Amino acid sequence: MRRNSKFKIHNSKLAKLVPPLLDWFSQNARDLPWRRTRDPYAIWISEIMLQQTQVKTVRPYWERWMRELPILEAAASAGPDKIHKLWEGLGYYTRARNLQKAARQIMERHGGKFPRNFEDVLALPGVGRYTAGAICSIAFNQATPVLDGNVMRVLTRIFGIEDDPRERKTGQWLWQIAGDLIAQAKAAETAKRKTCGRSGRGTNSCSCLNQSLMELGAVVCTPRNPECQICPVQRLCVAFLQNRADKLPALRRRVTATPRRFAALVVERNGKFLVRRRPAGVVNAHLWEFPNAEIGAGLRGPRHTSAIAEAATEILGLAPAEIKPLCQIKHSITRYRITMEAFRVRLNGFPSTPPGVWMSAEEFDSLAFAAAHKKLALFAAGCMLSG
Ligand code: SF4
Repeated sequence: MRRNSKFKIHNSKLAKLVPPLLDWFSQNARDLPWRRTRDPYAIWISEIMLQQTQVKTVRPYWERWMRELPILEAAASAGPDKIHKLWEGLGYYTRARNLQKAARQIMERHGGKFPRNFEDVLALPGVGRYTAGAICSIAFNQATPVLDGNVMRVLTRIFGIEDDPRERKTGQWLWQIAGDLIAQAKAAETAKRKTCGRSGRGTNSCSCLNQSLMELGAVVCTPRNPECQICPVQRLCVAFLQNRADKLPALRRRVTATPRRFAALVVERNGKFLVRRRPAGVVNAHLWEFPNAEIGAGLRGPRHTSAIAEAATEILGLAPAEIKPLCQIKHSITRYRITMEAFRVRLNGFPSTPPGVWMSAEEFDSLAFAAAHKKLALFAAGCMLSG
């Protein structure tokens, strides 16, 4: 291992970590649907969905995706509306668009067969070092390391690393440790094969080692109150032995949240609502929404009322006859804490070229809405039903 003395980790410690992690994972792994397959396509879909999203949220989305698009070819040839609809509510929609681009790339460059080579997987749109490592290790049992937030926390604690793991140098070192650890797992598997032959336990050590680190971080070595008493590597863990688990990882404070406020307009005509599609190249591109505009987060009283009237006039092309508050929806995107205030707008006449299309509540079912607007669509449809 080549690294400076501050970052020296002995291979003997890494080798000792492998057996308890593999044993623990074989007995405690959660039964997740994507763990019942070695199909790289299915594993890839799960890994992309799991970026920024929790397991319990992903599960029904993954199952629906695999039901509707069970093979890579189906994902490559599906229409964009179908892809967006299958992703609706998961957020970070660029993931879905990249996924389809990557599926098409695999069809063109790899004859429809998911590539096994790490560099080829890494070259796919939307696939970074972590995801490529996860796919190659889980699907093909290759010794490719992974380092996400969970694995970072586990390694930082086991090795008692004081530096902020988000710093470049510390991050590089953690990647190195993750790589050395999985190399140890591979070496142990190779040695076992020599003595026991190909069959039996221990023939997918790289797959299980990486998943054991991810799983340990998700269910035992959690950010707050880690369950060290049931941890399989407790006696090897520096943070536990020095009673510092709650102090690590030593992350710098994140940038403070920024409040933003939007006014969304619910305009109804003959049982249909005015909705529009977001353009390409913006957040939530191609998804549907109610007409809306950002208004000052700090506005109050008459200034707030007139800002909404001005926004409505500009969006709709004519001044509203009446604006009534309908509901308020709060959500977060990255560091933004967004409040979307929805208003029911009555017009005297309708714009000759409306800024969108008129759609019924029934038609909403076939459209993929941005998350906050999906809630508003359900709310608006409910209001209409109840008069
Ligand atoms: S002993 Fe505690 S701090 Fe150390 S890896 Fe296990 S759960 Fe995490």
